[in-house]
Amino acid sequence: MRYKMKDFAAKHGLECGKGCVWGVFGGYHVHIRYAPLGNPRCLVTVVARAEGKEKQLEKFLEANKQKLAISNYGVIGLGLMVCPKFTGEVFARAENILTALTAHLKKAGAGGADVCPYCGQPLGGEGVMTTESDIPFRAHEECFLRALAGARAKDAENAAKPDRKGLGAFGGFLGALFGAVLFVLTYAWWNFGALGGAAGALLAYFLYRKLGGKDSLFAVAYCGGAALLLSLAAFAFGLFMDGREAGGGFSEALQAVAAGGAGTAVFIIDLVCTFLFIAAACAFNYRACRRGRRTVEDGMRRL
Ligand SMILES: [Zn+2]
Repeated sequence: MRYKMKDFAAKHGLECGKGCVWGVFGGYHVHIRYAPLGNPRCLVTVVARAEGKEKQLEKFLEANKQKLAISNYGVIGLGLMVCPKFTGEVFARAENILTALTAHLKKAGAGGADVCPYCGQPLGGEGVMTTESDIPFRAHEECFLRALAGARAKDAENAAKPDRKGLGAFGGFLGALFGAVLFVLTYAWWNFGALGGAAGALLAYFLYRKLGGKDSLFAVAYCGGAALLLSLAAFAFGLFMDGREAGGGFSEALQAVAAGGAGTAVFIIDLVCTFLFIAAACAFNYRACRRGRRTVEDGMRRL
């Protein structure tokens, strides 16, 4: 039988939310986010007063990466996050990891659920439930408000950074162009280039942001549009080359498409897949855009 999120939550008295489970485990506030299609698919967080112990904890995680089956980790003053590797049961693995981590944190003297993770002072039954990056834990109200003010200042600084749309658009064009080249090559090899279109849209958005453009619906639409136009141009070029091979040019290729049979089928499959794959890449870019527009403050709440 599968060991599901709700089995894990019930066993340890944790709360279940949408795609996540949280509560106190081994004396620490913990949080597990699990999304089968997410990236990362699973993120395990342990809230702890880790300030001043970051290096030591990183060393522990690096040394135990294999043993705990962790693919990635990060340590900040408020605790640590790890991504479990994906083999076997997700929650059995998360359980092992949490057992080992909380035991080590205790040994290392990192304050747990009875301590405010911001200041390291005992809560003594006081404090309020708050969230940071949507991860719930208990802290002093004043400490949380101070952290919130810091996050607001940082968000304002980020918002004040210029949105380099022009450079971003240039990057987006380069990404889409790379996709079009890939389209031509894969079309020549397999008579199927649609994957080049998707790669172009993804790379376009990546480069758009890399060159200083900010996440926006405009950016998502621009990158999708550029990838679509250049892919269609690449498709036309591929058809032209088909015509050349047949001893003619573009009109010969179009005749082959119009003649019905295999040529027509290949043409329709290519065209439909190009649209579908680029649409899927745009949906992915849109999700990245929504994540990118989220501020630090968005994840901070007093429960
Ligand atoms: Zn405090």
